[in-house]
Amino acid sequence: ELANRMAEKGADLVKALFKMGMPVTMTQTIDQDTAELLVTEFGHNIVRVSDSDIDLALDTTEDAVESLRPRPPVVTIMGHVDHGKTSLLDALRGTDVVRGEAGGITQHIGAYQVTLKDKSKVTFLDTPGHEAFTQMRARGADVTDIVVLVVAADDGLMPQTIEAINHTKAAGKPMIVAINKIDKHDANAQRVRERLLEHDVQVEDMGGETQDVEVSALKKIGLDTLIEKIQLQAELLELTANPDRAAEGSVVEAKLDKGRGPVATVLVTRGTLKVGDVFVVGAESGKVRALVDDKGRQVKEAGPAMPVEVLGLSGVPQAGDLLQVVENEARAREVAEYRQSVLLQKRTTSAPASLESMFSALKANQAKEYPLVVKADTQGTVEAIVASINKIASDLIKARILHSGVGGITESDVTLAAASGAPIIGFNVRANAKAREIAERNKVALKYYDVIYDLIDEIRAGMAGELGPEA
Ligand code: GDP
Repeated sequence: ELANRMAEKGADLVKALFKMGMPVTMTQTIDQDTAELLVTEFGHNIVRVSDSDIDLALDTTEDAVESLRPRPPVVTIMGHVDHGKTSLLDALRGTDVVRGEAGGITQHIGAYQVTLKDKSKVTFLDTPGHEAFTQMRARGADVTDIVVLVVAADDGLMPQTIEAINHTKAAGKPMIVAINKIDKHDANAQRVRERLLEHDVQVEDMGGETQDVEVSALKKIGLDTLIEKIQLQAELLELTANPDRAAEGSVVEAKLDKGRGPVATVLVTRGTLKVGDVFVVGAESGKVRALVDDKGRQVKEAGPAMPVEVLGLSGVPQAGDLLQVVENEARAREVAEYRQSVLLQKRTTSAPASLESMFSALKANQAKEYPLVVKADTQGTVEAIVASINKIASDLIKARILHSGVGGITESDVTLAAASGAPIIGFNVRANAKAREIAERNKVALKYYDVIYDLIDEIRAGMAGELGPEA
């Protein structure tokens, strides 16, 4: 069966399995890990049956290069609480040249787009903070192109600033540092730049490549410069999408509206979404009854990177769900129903991200990084653990510490770990109730230790065992 799907000879598969120390017959059932290993061995791509079925409607073909057109960047704002994320989002909204003249009323729909003097556009996600960002990413809706890290110049780097830096790095997104509140008398932008160095963020002034800009969200200082830097970064990324195809998008926010029924704010990722389009979104389906933009205006269509409220859904999808336009309503319903059944099944059967399964997944993907989140009781222990873990690295595999810090395991640690399929190591600390609950739901492994030696030993043993004798 597997040989057939790969268009390989069955005997070759049996031979390969023998070589891997697994004597099997042609018709024997093999487990998923083995099958994945085999598929990779033969140079094919893995598509799990359930995934391919879920994606009945999904058109995975890449758009032809000549169909691609430039699209606006999508920006997320992160930073410590009270450093001015919301104020900055509001201030940036004010830079929109269309907003005033169109007479629209600002609607908070989860994302907004500003049109600049030169007619170019920038889209901002309206939910600041790294939780939403990482949750979207965990659900496969990696819509952010650029992160703006807000740091209050009077307060400096705080715990959530550091978390935001680590979440941004884990996602591999470029970052622009907005040093906010420079209107305050005790503002010290230079100290912020210096402290950033401790977290491997080197701004241009410090000889690095990360752009930074001094702003005041309150006094509206530096906003144009911030926008310019966002545009500059966007140019480097060469963001494009094909606008002329059936639309796909990601749900940024969804709710049940008393008057309008289920409403989802969708950020179109490719194609153009039009009134009358039939779609599936997560485990829901629908037909676009109306599209409403962030100024409360009804629009007929929405192209790439444009956020719109979509009306006409069968139910409320979840943030991070993907929307896809399909050919007809019967098809949309069929896919949605299938997905609902798969969702039910998934809840009861998915495997935990144990150290062991992590390693086999890594091996199958031939990835060489082993993501981890480390929390411990003191800064000294955190540093000791991080240093020891980094030492275990070999040519074949190395640890990648997504985030490390002092204190108990929090929800934010768990969402970060879940997005990268990483286990969390707790040294002399535990997870709080909420974090445990989310970990359980997302199958994130929580590992507790009180002896560094045990911790290192377990990671090392796992690595050695998985890579085999030749490693
Ligand atoms: P968030 O928690 O990061 O979203 O922060 P907010 O936007 O709610 O801002 C927190 C507080 O800082 C509010 O009282 C704002 O008025 C104030 N604030 C925000 N930006 C500035 C600024 O540039 N200068 C000054 N002086 N205060 C600011």
